[in-house]
Amino acid sequence: MLSRRKFINKTLLAGAGACWVPRAYCGHAGHEAVMTVNGPVHPGDLQFTLSHEHIMVDFIGAEKVSRDRYNTEEVFNTALPILQDVKKKGCLTFIDCTPAYLGRDVQLLHRLSKATGLHIITNTGCYGAAGEKYLPGYVYAETAEQIASRWIIESSGIDGTEIRPGFIKTGVDKAPLTAAQRKVIDAAAITHLATGLTIGVHTGNGEAAKEQLEILRSRGVSPSARIWIHAQNEGNNRYHIDAARQGSWISFDGVNPESKEAHIGYLKALKTEKLLDHVLVSQDSGWYHVGEPRGGDYKNYNYILTDFIPALRQQGFTKGEINTLFIRNPGQAFTLSKRLK
Ligand SMILES: [Zn+2]
Repeated sequence: MLSRRKFINKTLLAGAGACWVPRAYCGHAGHEAVMTVNGPVHPGDLQFTLSHEHIMVDFIGAEKVSRDRYNTEEVFNTALPILQDVKKKGCLTFIDCTPAYLGRDVQLLHRLSKATGLHIITNTGCYGAAGEKYLPGYVYAETAEQIASRWIIESSGIDGTEIRPGFIKTGVDKAPLTAAQRKVIDAAAITHLATGLTIGVHTGNGEAAKEQLEILRSRGVSPSARIWIHAQNEGNNRYHIDAARQGSWISFDGVNPESKEAHIGYLKALKTEKLLDHVLVSQDSGWYHVGEPRGGDYKNYNYILTDFIPALRQQGFTKGEINTLFIRNPGQAFTLSKRLK
């Protein structure tokens, strides 16, 4: 926790126009903030957090994606009871990982947050995985600095609203990264330096995760600014352990009945290494599928709370360790903070 003086110094050092915590927030106890679609909250207020889920996704591609492809009321009415249900089961914060060009709709998220009382967090950035199908043209035409300047502007309001992102979402496939994928990671590093937003990267495998850290380091950004999303895609635990030892967040976010055993295995390995304080766990569940009748097969968000945590407890994970995974770690991972190497 920073002292007030240090906090103010740090904020001033960020420079005009690049202030990473709204000045109005500076007077609050703790002076640390996580940015939700309703504005900043103290990291300690997040409580039980699902750190990687989706409310809506449109897989049509960057060229055809459009608000005209869905009925907002229908999406709202479909998602609302599913979100209310998981809140009733104990979830207080919901991190929506749908990026721009894949169906991010921050006004919808804001409405759902108001209606449910959930803290909802959205993102800026671009998703370069899936063969770059979701990258807009500007990524190819512009430099990393120009791309970053778009995201930095967006950090003070998305799509003409005052709704701010709480992290940067990017994505890459397996190593070696393509030129465009390297560029979005580089742009994310520049954006992090200006905003303190944590960088979440959908990642194909362990080598791709390593390559990202090299790019971040070349910009002076610490591995602790990076969340390795879909770490379960890498079967070799050594990669997870190495990355966590360097300070990176490791996100095992594909929890479901079929993957339960594999996820417990990954968590046990990190527990043995005393690295659980670098781990996030979520389901990558949901969502309203744009383009499918009534949103298609929308899976709920309950499994972790109803089944997976009881299974972890049976496997010897303590209450304290569960709190580390679902309360402490998300609060820390998403705190606005410039993390320099
Ligand atoms: Zn996802």
